[in-house]
Amino acid sequence: MPLSSTKYIFVTGGVTSSLGKGIVSASLAKILQSRGLNVTIQKLDPYINVDPGTLNPYEHGECYVTEDGAETDLDLGHYERFLNIQTSQNNNVTTGKIYQTVINRERNGDYLGKTVQVIPHITNEIKEHILKLGKGKDYDVVITEIGGTVGDIESLPFIESIRQLKWDLNQDVLFIHLTLIPYLSTSGELKTKPTQHSVKALLEYGIQPDILVCRSEYHLDDSIRNKIALFCNVEKECVIESIDAKTIYEVPILMLKEKLDTVVCEKLKIKIENKPSLTKWKKFLNNLYNPKHSIEIALIGKYVELKDSYISIAESLIHAGARNKTKVNLHWIHSSKLETQDCESVLKNIHGIIVAPGFGSRGIEGKIKAVHYARTKKIPFLGICLGMQCAVVEFARNVLEMENANSIEIDSETKFPVISMMEQQKKLKKMGGTMRLGAYKCDIEKGTLLHNIYKKETILERHRHRFEFNNKYVKEFESKGLIFSGKNSKNQLMETIEIKEHPWFIGVQYHPEYKSTVENPHPIFLGLIEAGLKQSL
Ligand code: GLN
Repeated sequence: MPLSSTKYIFVTGGVTSSLGKGIVSASLAKILQSRGLNVTIQKLDPYINVDPGTLNPYEHGECYVTEDGAETDLDLGHYERFLNIQTSQNNNVTTGKIYQTVINRERNGDYLGKTVQVIPHITNEIKEHILKLGKGKDYDVVITEIGGTVGDIESLPFIESIRQLKWDLNQDVLFIHLTLIPYLSTSGELKTKPTQHSVKALLEYGIQPDILVCRSEYHLDDSIRNKIALFCNVEKECVIESIDAKTIYEVPILMLKEKLDTVVCEKLKIKIENKPSLTKWKKFLNNLYNPKHSIEIALIGKYVELKDSYISIAESLIHAGARNKTKVNLHWIHSSKLETQDCESVLKNIHGIIVAPGFGSRGIEGKIKAVHYARTKKIPFLGICLGMQCAVVEFARNVLEMENANSIEIDSETKFPVISMMEQQKKLKKMGGTMRLGAYKCDIEKGTLLHNIYKKETILERHRHRFEFNNKYVKEFESKGLIFSGKNSKNQLMETIEIKEHPWFIGVQYHPEYKSTVENPHPIFLGLIEAGLKQSL
């Protein structure tokens, strides 16, 4: 039975960024879900980009794509992976999107001659957006994570909006503040002052946090908890320790031990009898911590210095590895490195190669070399999006002898444009939100490796690209043993490739990594781990 009204939890961050607000929010959502509540999460990002789709991964890490085609913050990936639910356009909003809506309304004359201001127009738009997610959905709890750190100029309208919502919704709102308790090695002490200041900053904006989640390298003893409670006006039970964890997947268990779920339910007057049930989650952790095998997987990409750029791929490998009781040692290899170094020296002990998605020409020849190595040495291979396009180019150049074949994204003059721009993309001028985005149907040919992997004839997978296989060359590729195992029948797009004479060689135009969760590891990654295991024997 759903609760009589939806409860709203707002999570803010203080002291520094990168405290893991996304993981704490996702963990709280997970433990509430494990007690039978219907929970969703959203992220409010204070930057002015309308969405992160146009951002370079070096800025904010991976751009995560939802089923309905929104380009979103990577925290949404954590939400889906933890909760095993799907998020949507409405789960992520930026300052840019809010202002765009308000300015469009102003141009339409919707404000009837009024001066348009941050308060109330921007804040009303923010509040409307927060509430929209829960409308008509029977959510018991909506958790809203506010990006940035309290005190940032750009997050002020968001903070003001949630302050107002407390008054609009009265009992149904709870504020959680995530903060840092640093350890000073010179005095051998944990320090609470930054937290006190951070809470003061929130109080200046009219928000009294109900619960403090304190990130720390060391356990918080009673005296520290009492001190924080006293100085920050919260009950001692509401000072929750969030100690550095072995993996992000441990955090829900740590939050349960700290009774975060109990305190939240008490504060929000949620009466539930159910004990948390995390059987599947614990089984996953048990497998993760007690692997029986280990394999080496190489991820070839051009943003490997910032691991967040490929976070969904890395997490998918963890899910699939745990399911196979296998520790996956991931080697992050810069594609440019392969342009100057011999593949053998870099990839010799590797049991599986992934060529990552991406845009532009930097490091592309390194990626193509990696495909060549995987194909000819018969090493399990997964090419994702640009990675599949590189596999097509490699096959064209080295098997079909199409000299300098390429994707027109990389060489618009190539004599053999084996990857070309999709028809509907040719007329587009704007960059933001104009790729082929979100879930599309793909029909799988029976008897193929892909069919064996999915054990299904139709799948829905998420896309983010402008270029595609050039159908003019289908026959030539097929005649030399390349198989188009998955197609979009509606507009004849070749969605996947594989190679007959290879134990496990898959290229996918879509992104399987967006759909892997702890409870449902993705079949493609499961397949890659199994093939890698065979290779390692
Ligand atoms: N740059 C390629 C395209 O636009 C691949 C995109 C990707 O890897 N996500 O088609």
